[in-house]
Amino acid sequence: MTLFEKVVAREIPAKIVFEDDEILAFHDINPQAPVHVLVVPKRVIPRIAEAQPSDGALLGRLLLTGKQIAADLGLSETGFRLVINSGRNGGETVPHLHLHVLGGRPMNWPPG
Ligand code: AMP
Repeated sequence: MTLFEKVVAREIPAKIVFEDDEILAFHDINPQAPVHVLVVPKRVIPRIAEAQPSDGALLGRLLLTGKQIAADLGLSETGFRLVINSGRNGGETVPHLHLHVLGGRPMNWPPG
């Protein structure tokens, strides 16, 4: 079981902000911005590099859920960033695809 499957199963506690049949979203345990939420498909895709064309609908829902959470948390006007880390150089630490929603401060570019 991945770490995030354990969160989905309520074996690990989390501050949940959204759930439906396919997706769970919760606050990151080590926030990198005033708002830092992880949006996680319940079905495990290890990373975006391994996503298949058949995952397209779920990936679309992931993005749309991320923007809705950003809106719900008051980030629409000031803006926000959606991030997916993939693999070692991408900064991935949990091998269960997830979208980061970051906001509440200006973001730097290029990212570190
Ligand atoms: P990534 O580095 O893109 O794989 O993102 C993994 C994220 O999961 C990091 O931002 C961690 O802070 C976060 N994280 C790890 N464990 C937990 C947890 N138990 N609850 C919430 N977030 C977590």
